[in-house]
Amino acid sequence: MADKIILTGDRPTGKLHVGHYVGSLRRRVVLQNSGEYKRTMVMIADAQALTDNFDNPEKVRQNIIEVALDYLSVGLDPEKSVLFIQSQIPELTELTFFYSDLVTVARLQRNPTVKNEIKLRNFEADIPVGFFTYPISQAADITAFKATTVPVGEDQLPMIEQTREIVRKFNSIYAPVLVEPEALIPSDAASRRLPGTDGKAKMSKSLGNCIYLSDDADTVAARIKTMYTDPEHLRVSDPGHLEGNTVFTYLEAFSRPEHFERYLPEYASLDELKAHYTRGGLGDVKVKKFLTAVMQEELEPIRKRRKEYERDIPAVYEILKKGSERAREIAAETLHEVKDAMRINYFEDSELIREQAERYRKAAE
Ligand code: ATP
Ligand code: MG
Repeated sequence: MADKIILTGDRPTGKLHVGHYVGSLRRRVVLQNSGEYKRTMVMIADAQALTDNFDNPEKVRQNIIEVALDYLSVGLDPEKSVLFIQSQIPELTELTFFYSDLVTVARLQRNPTVKNEIKLRNFEADIPVGFFTYPISQAADITAFKATTVPVGEDQLPMIEQTREIVRKFNSIYAPVLVEPEALIPSDAASRRLPGTDGKAKMSKSLGNCIYLSDDADTVAARIKTMYTDPEHLRVSDPGHLEGNTVFTYLEAFSRPEHFERYLPEYASLDELKAHYTRGGLGDVKVKKFLTAVMQEELEPIRKRRKEYERDIPAVYEILKKGSERAREIAAETLHEVKDAMRINYFEDSELIREQAERYRKAAE
């Protein structure tokens, strides 16, 4: 128990949205507060963001503070979690370089997440090498801190699998230094991959179909008003479909029994609401109103806390600086062990030098 370690992170390519929240952020806060982990490491992956935003470093630079504010506002606590910036830990680059020896081009090409993202970014013709190999750098991020547990959305599973392979290969060739991590994904499908407000498969900064944690109450309400539902559900009396109905998917991810008591007491549960919808006689407007109430309740304290942190931006940078220093210490320890295992510790190995000196002396005699 006491040796369990968490690592997660996000790319600073925009503010964080409710997909990040249900997929990973809210779980991190629970784990951070559970007392079951020796350490919680939370990384702003700026170097990874640059792999496909290399021509727009200002975007990455401006979004570091946004992601940090989002972290603090959801309840990640710098007293309990190490919040740090990837590029400030040069040890990660060194690890990436060594791990690159253990991964084939064919294996990277098979990674379904990378495949998908290459398509999304129209990179088919000319993929930057850095982008193509980011799963290796992600393995460095995870293993540098000996993370056992990585709370992520579903799209990250292939990354964790790739990391596990690298760990096994490293440990079997060199020495058992690295720890095989496990992904921790949400138990419900809606939270594992929250769709966009447009009904598209994934809410994603790159697709512009997001509700951001920092959106004000009016924006959230407006986003839900125009949210994709069932295009065949024209009259209230029509039977409605749940399949692909974004409003119900969001209710899966966000609603809890107490929300029904508070805002919709005529239904005992989401199942009852669904049953009425499919039977006919329940209008989209009513369901959307309920979702709005549920989401505002969840987001209001987050917005409030954000406002407080926004008042002292230098203090937020100080948190990141301290966190980065701490992260660097830990990563340096792992790198040291890795180099020992790989036998590239020449200057520290007095036995190596002594033995060779002896050998050459004898040969000269
Ligand atoms: P980008 O489009 O720049 O890749 P993104 O929105 O996919 O941005 P990431 O920073 O790549 O965000 O992902 C950070 C974390 O949030 C990962 O653990 C990922 O699995 C999770 N996540 C991202 N989008 C969703 C979503 N729609 N539903 C559930 N989890 C998500
Ligand atoms: Mg992503």
